[in-house]
Amino acid sequence: MAAIIIDGKEIAAKKKVEIASEVQKLKEFGVTPGLAVILVGNNHASRTYVTNKEKTCRELGMHSVLIELPEMVTQEELLTKIEELNGDPAIHGILVQLPLPKHIDETRVIESISPLKDVDGFHPINIGRMMTGQDAFLPCTPYGIMVLLEEMGISVAGKHVVVVGRSNIVGKPVGQLFLNQHATVTYCHSKTVDLQYHTSQADILVAAVGVANFINADHVKEGAVVIDVGINRNEAGKLCGDVAFDEVSQKAGYITPVPKGVGPMTITMLMYNTLKSAKNTLRF
Ligand code: NDP
Repeated sequence: MAAIIIDGKEIAAKKKVEIASEVQKLKEFGVTPGLAVILVGNNHASRTYVTNKEKTCRELGMHSVLIELPEMVTQEELLTKIEELNGDPAIHGILVQLPLPKHIDETRVIESISPLKDVDGFHPINIGRMMTGQDAFLPCTPYGIMVLLEEMGISVAGKHVVVVGRSNIVGKPVGQLFLNQHATVTYCHSKTVDLQYHTSQADILVAAVGVANFINADHVKEGAVVIDVGINRNEAGKLCGDVAFDEVSQKAGYITPVPKGVGPMTITMLMYNTLKSAKNTLRF
């Protein structure tokens, strides 16, 4: 039987309505959530992501600032700009679009963002807080995945979750969020021996590899929940995920498509985190 499709676009739309309504309430207290996005250089994909973030901010009634810096900006100049935004009361979230040019130390830049405005959830303080189960800004893609499952009514506690990929922005944190919700978690990566042995035991399988059609039906247990994080282009130039959708959707119980699966949730959770940061200012 064909899998149930997890419609990320629809779930993201529902969440955005909730966020927009919270933004309006906050405005009544004189606070407009503000997001600053820093774009360095002229990477085409980065520009598309940044434009989408600005557009979504506006749709939800938030304040949005785009700071464009030239490819050759110095690290010092970038850090000074971040420092300025750290102290700007109209800005609740700061996002530096990655990747940065090679002459800039990404870690240094991420660590210079105030943890209170780190709406990407990449600062070591937020990562540490997430790991220890404290309140934190959660990284947007992993957080979006957890919201998808929650909205679909898929329980996590006690499930065996297998995550393929261990990047700092997707694989590692999503495994941690599943662990926080009492799943048993296995991480796989490029040095894993007999990948299929592991993936075929998963109740919930997360693919965050970055290789088109990497996960096929043989990797998947009958009825499993399959979450496809990948954003790739196949030989025909068509957008596709890490999962061979046509065959896996005949075996899985639930599956996220690409596009319209995990992708729309990432930007939605960025907006959620910016709203949360703005709300936090009222508590001080
Ligand atoms: P990275 O390239 O940083 O990480 C890829 C991971 O896959 C690594 O841990 C790597 O292992 C592992 N891997 C590579 N080859 C194999 C293999 N043959 N067997 C098992 N594991 C393997 O990618 P990201 O985590 O940043 O992104 C993953 C995908 O998700 C990309 O397609 C990206 O575009 C997409 N993405 C989508 C987002 C969304 O909003 N939907 C947001 C962010 C990313 P090792 O560590 O050993 O090298």
